[in-house]
Amino acid sequence: MSFMQDLRLLSSVPPLEGDNISQRYYGDWSCEAQTIPVAVVRPGSTEELSTVLRLCHANDQKVAVQGGLTGLCGGANPQSGELAISLERLAGVEEIDTAAMTMTVRAGTPLQVIQEAALAEGFVFPLDLGARGSCQIGGNVSTNAGGNQVLRYGMTRALVLGLEVVLADGTILCNMNKMLKNNAGYDLKHLFIGTEGTLGIVTRLVLRLFPKSKSRCSALVAVEDFSQVTSLLRRLSADMGPALSAFEVMWDGYVNFMLDNIVDLKTPFSQRHPLYVLTEIEGSHQERDQEHFEEVLAAAFEAGEVVDAAIASSARERESFWKIRDGVAEVGKVIKDSGNFDVSVPISVMPEFLRAVQTRLDDNYPGIQFLAFGHVADSNLHFICSTGVHNDIPGISDLVYEVVGKFNGSVSAEHGIGVQKRKVLHRSRSVAEISLMQNLKQALDPKGILNASRVLP
Ligand code: FAD
Repeated sequence: MSFMQDLRLLSSVPPLEGDNISQRYYGDWSCEAQTIPVAVVRPGSTEELSTVLRLCHANDQKVAVQGGLTGLCGGANPQSGELAISLERLAGVEEIDTAAMTMTVRAGTPLQVIQEAALAEGFVFPLDLGARGSCQIGGNVSTNAGGNQVLRYGMTRALVLGLEVVLADGTILCNMNKMLKNNAGYDLKHLFIGTEGTLGIVTRLVLRLFPKSKSRCSALVAVEDFSQVTSLLRRLSADMGPALSAFEVMWDGYVNFMLDNIVDLKTPFSQRHPLYVLTEIEGSHQERDQEHFEEVLAAAFEAGEVVDAAIASSARERESFWKIRDGVAEVGKVIKDSGNFDVSVPISVMPEFLRAVQTRLDDNYPGIQFLAFGHVADSNLHFICSTGVHNDIPGISDLVYEVVGKFNGSVSAEHGIGVQKRKVLHRSRSVAEISLMQNLKQALDPKGILNASRVLP
């Protein structure tokens, strides 16, 4: 019997083939090449996925692992001759343990479903990103997603207590640990967090939940220069402690572009400023926390660390602040053919780094558009660069990643490597590190069938 006949026989729902493969399985949100997979298989259980992988392993069939397909690096895009394995049917919340403050879920569950299930029990699952309605928790874990609340709760890695994974040869590895402390040997779950489906397919997870905060205070702050940004961050961290939950920085180029091009956006300030900080705290008493927040910002004002500040007095006002930051999803409608960057550099060298990137870009691409913003407290910068010429993007990327390397930064802060950044991994990882990654890949997937030609050069 042929591979496809075997696959049809062992699948609980028929694999999608030919014209039945809709376009959404061709690839993710990135601009990376998209290919129609040989078929799309949608296992409904861990055991079914294990059988599928055993068959693929025996037949040297390469597979592309697909979650919610919101990735920005092309990792889930099928390549020529690959079978797509979609996790969409392996979905649902299995258990909320209110005493352990954990949730047990299947990997194909959309992030927003998890957030809502947690809220219904009085908890929060604090991972949050713009793609929440479509991305899946398995995809979030595989990319070690970041988002807006890393400062307080850490990246996805910090929110995972246990997981179940199917290895390339079909072996099921189950470690659905619910305990915060567990030092019994190697903590193998980390092999599958942030490794973008190259070492195994995540099927189930135990996630950490947190009590829902009883208060939230937000402010949009205008500052003159980056030294004020770092002073303000130091002050807020010291005076607010772990309550500090967001510290987003937006440069004037970005904010001016948003105000001039996106309808319905405005700042609370009468004039424009060089830099803006959107900051938030979460606590346990609205009035008391608001008063304390105002005092700390007033002290920052007196110390010359901020030029102007607006504290949100309603949920609507808070939303209007976040709209400026989250409106980034709209930029692509106005600026075509842009390079979109997600990098990290130590906060202490961020201004020099940005100056170096901008100088190199201006010298090589006069008139280039450059919009910068980021989760600065997490050392994470995003920027959008465009000359309006699609063919300039590879050259712009080479130049940006070369500067990232010089500043000992990371070519990927939170989006991963996928196919997009394989060739620049060496800018952030040493030869010895890449060699160990390749050895791990060889040990866990000797035939190279899982997400081949992704992540590693
Ligand atoms: P996919 O795109 O389907 O896959 C991503 C990678 O994970 C691929 O390599 C895939 O093979 C692998 N994979 C998927 N599921 C599994 C699994 N079960 N087991 C093993 N491997 C698997 N990212 C951030 O970090 N922070 C943000 O703030 C952020 N904002 C975004 C906003 C928008 C509007 C968009 C479109 C994207 C944003 N992203 C952000 C990127 C993206 O949402 C994340 O990378 C997300 O974690 C991807 O999840 P997914 O389910 O869509 O994965």
